[in-house]
Amino acid sequence: PLVPGTPGGAADTHDLDGLAAAIDDTTRVVFVCNPNNPTGTAVRRPELERFLDAVPAQTLVVLDEAYREFVTDPDVPDGVELMRGRPNVAVLRTFSKAWGLAGLRVGYLLAEDPAVADAVRRTQVPFSVSSLAQAAAVAALASEPEVRERCAAVATERARLTGALRERGLPVADSQANFVWLPLGERAAEVAAALEARAVITRPFAGEGVRVTVGIPEEDDVFLAALDDVLTSAPVGAAGA
Ligand SMILES: *Cc1c(COP(=O)(O)O)cnc(C)c1O
Repeated sequence: PLVPGTPGGAADTHDLDGLAAAIDDTTRVVFVCNPNNPTGTAVRRPELERFLDAVPAQTLVVLDEAYREFVTDPDVPDGVELMRGRPNVAVLRTFSKAWGLAGLRVGYLLAEDPAVADAVRRTQVPFSVSSLAQAAAVAALASEPEVRERCAAVATERARLTGALRERGLPVADSQANFVWLPLGERAAEVAAALEARAVITRPFAGEGVRVTVGIPEEDDVFLAALDDVLTSAPVGAAGA
């Protein structure tokens, strides 16, 4: 079943009560992407704990935390802590985002119940994580302080970019990821194309919005100038316009 997001202001976030209500005897797995891609919004500890408590034992909850390293809000729970004592919860992490190894396709799953890892291994393609990717991941872990610093810089710039977009009247929700979401509705594809014509590449989701990766300040200023140009040559309405 399709459970729409909760319109929590500008961008949608997961409606966990709605998701829990949609689970029945046939539901084997539920993914909760936190922070969510592409909206950047995140569910907080009380709602996620209530959700995990409500999910039946035979349904696996997979917490996709691909953007965990960019979280700054202390109320956004760490799935690895939440998973403790809950055998039907698994956590996914990746080296593709904060760790900068996107092309190498290396990540990992954490779960308390060995049956979860066993099931994953049975369906895994042999050598799906190459030895090169493994070596890169180990090397990346050695540079953790640098990665943390980079994530902190992204979070600072994320706040500035969010503020600048709100000043332009765009109802941008708080993001906990390394991107922000412009809820442009029907104008999404057109605005992204107009930005691209000005050499700024964003990621449109037709009919819904545009995801914009947080860059360094200079890059984001180029984006903001291009956006101003696009918005003034063809005014874009607020959310859902
Ligand atoms: C990037 C991403 C992943 C992981 O990608 P891999 O390159 O396959 O490790 C998982 N979930 C979400 C939501 C992502 O954005």
